[in-house]
Formats: sequence, C-alpha cells, structure tokens
Amino acid sequence: MSIQPIRLFGDPVLVTPSLPVVDFDKELRVLVSDLTETMLDAPGAGLAAPQIGVPLRVFVWDIDEALGHLINPTLDLSEDLQEGEEGCLSFPELRYSTPRAFRVVAKGWNMYGEPISVEGTELLARALQHETDHLDGVLFIDRLTKEDRKSAMKEIRESEWFGLRQQSGLSAEIRVSPHYTFDKGL
Ligand code: ZN
Repeated sequence: MSIQPIRLFGDPVLVTPSLPVVDFDKELRVLVSDLTETMLDAPGAGLAAPQIGVPLRVFVWDIDEALGHLINPTLDLSEDLQEGEEGCLSFPELRYSTPRAFRVVAKGWNMYGEPISVEGTELLARALQHETDHLDGVLFIDRLTKEDRKSAMKEIRESEWFGLRQQSGLSAEIRVSPHYTFDKGL
C-alpha cells in the first residue's frame, strides 16, 4: 500500500475517459488499496483512479465512516435533485454549489469480481456521481452554472497550485498541494 500523488486540474488524465477493468487480479486490489490510502491521507470523501494517474474505471469513497469501492460502475439516477457544495481533491480549495441527483443506485463489481449494488442519497449519492464522472473524464466544474464556471475558472487561474502547475509544464511529477483545508473533497 502506498500514498500516491493526486493529479491536479490541468493534467490530461483527468479529462480522458477511463477504460473498464478486465482483470480482477492482485494489481487491481493494490490499486483499490492505494486509492483508499491516498483518499484517507488527503483527506477526502472520494477518489477515482484517474486522479492518481491510472485510467481505469475504479473509485473509492469514505462517507459516514464507511469505506467503499466500486469497479466498472453504472448509475441509475433519481429525478429529484439536491443542491449542495462540492469540492474535488484535484481542485484544492475550490468549492461550488453543484446540482446532483438526490438518490443513486450504482451497480458494478467489487475488487474480487463479485457483482455489487450500492444505493445512496445525499452525500453518498453525490460522491457516486462525482466519481463516476471522473471515470468519464468529466469534472465537477463541468456541472456548474455558466456564471459559477466562469468564476471557478478565474479562481483556478489565480490559485497558487495552478500557477505552479503551469510553470512545471506537463510534467508527470505533479506535486500534491499542501492546501487541503476542507474535509469533503472528492
Ligand atoms: Zn473529484
């Protein structure tokens, strides 16, 4: 098990759709373990494999003191929506109100290749949607209103972490920002 650097916005892996998992092998279980350890260290409420540079359809969460993981997820969304602030470990300190379905039924597999179904409302539903978006190369800023997106992009451009990232070019050695002051990053 090891803590991996979290990729920040601007890294191409975050906007690239991830591939389905085919082999439910030891390597996959190491990935789930690395994701979990990295999420707990951040700390965050969820983390998807592309956020540590692995383009596979795998994510983990830590909601209401319960750890979970899901592989190759498909989501069934409720029509009723929830509003609430959302953040992302790939966007240090950025938080915006993001509309999401209130309830989700997620189906997929666990790391042993057994089919599982996870049903959640509120924060768990939000996390399942946020993390599945990551697997499709979709980021939470893509879900904001036009005005909020504009203001989020301005905040990002002015942020220290993004400036440092720009200076370092497209290096794979993205450093983890020390500025995780919130506890609900995903
Ligand atoms: Zn995220």
